Amino acid sequence: MRLSFSQYDLRLKHAFTIARGSDSVRPVVLVRIEHEGIIGFGEAAPISRYGESVETVARFLEAVYLEKVDDPFELESTLSYVDSVAEGNHAAKAAIDIALHDWIGKKLQIPLHRLWGLAIDQTMTTSFTIGIDRPEIVAQKVREAEEYPILKIKLGGEDDENIIRTIRAITKKPLRVDANEGWRKKEEALDRIKWLEQEGVELIEQPMPANQGAEIAWIHDRVSVPLIADESAARLRDVPTLVDAFDGINIKLMKCTGLREAMKMIHAARAVGLKVMIGCMIETSVGISAASQLAPLVDYIDLDGNLLTTNDPFEGVKVVHGNLVLPDGPGIGAISKQTD
Ligand code: MG
Repeated sequence: MRLSFSQYDLRLKHAFTIARGSDSVRPVVLVRIEHEGIIGFGEAAPISRYGESVETVARFLEAVYLEKVDDPFELESTLSYVDSVAEGNHAAKAAIDIALHDWIGKKLQIPLHRLWGLAIDQTMTTSFTIGIDRPEIVAQKVREAEEYPILKIKLGGEDDENIIRTIRAITKKPLRVDANEGWRKKEEALDRIKWLEQEGVELIEQPMPANQGAEIAWIHDRVSVPLIADESAARLRDVPTLVDAFDGINIKLMKCTGLREAMKMIHAARAVGLKVMIGCMIETSVGISAASQLAPLVDYIDLDGNLLTTNDPFEGVKVVHGNLVLPDGPGIGAISKQTD
């Protein structure tokens, strides 16, 4: 089979700021796997926290040799080979995984969630993300997000209480908070979480850095709001290590190498009693439609990365009044808007 790829610059509606930094353009790499006249779409949205960029994605994809693979259904062996090409490179690996799954669904003429035996629920509600900003911009974003019933608020800076007070003056919606490792002292994190509990926050994602698991476990013993691992939970092997510090994990295809490992992580999380969120990076409708195929299996959905962009080159999963509407099409269900 033939692998090809190209860079695409996603433009953002608002500059997107989290505890680690800010962007107005996010480059991604679009991948195609072609075999027997069928094209599977994939995408890599590289994660700078893990040292990835469009350049590292391109270098990795150039090093992968798929010409001799003539049965795309042999996912386990093909993806094991892809994983062995180099350490890390999770987003690049996810692009291949997504494209292979899309190819299989198209070959069988069936959406992936149906292939996996999952029924679509009409109330698969995604949160909508509000990045860190000045209070007046936060207020504007919250008003623009009126149709979304659940908001995910990025915190982890000096202005956290101000941001929450600004939002609470506008809406009583359920809020999920993502600190993106931004709180550095356990006592400070505990104080903020105690305050956020009183503000009716539904969950807290990654309160402290991933390498401070013992501190997060100390917090976990002292709060009742669920703590969800994101930066601490990259791959399958991380799942059993998280039970002391967290109540759940945020699985992202770009972090975990793709759909196949994401499915294994969901089952591992269930086995050790962890809740599951499906999340995303800033991605096109390829990555988001792929992740949405797993939505019937999870407790929390955070699939809004394409909604934050202005030039998505694909169509796929839609969000209507905050609820995911999965595409009917085979595979991941994403269709290119470009005429080629
Ligand atoms: Mg997060």
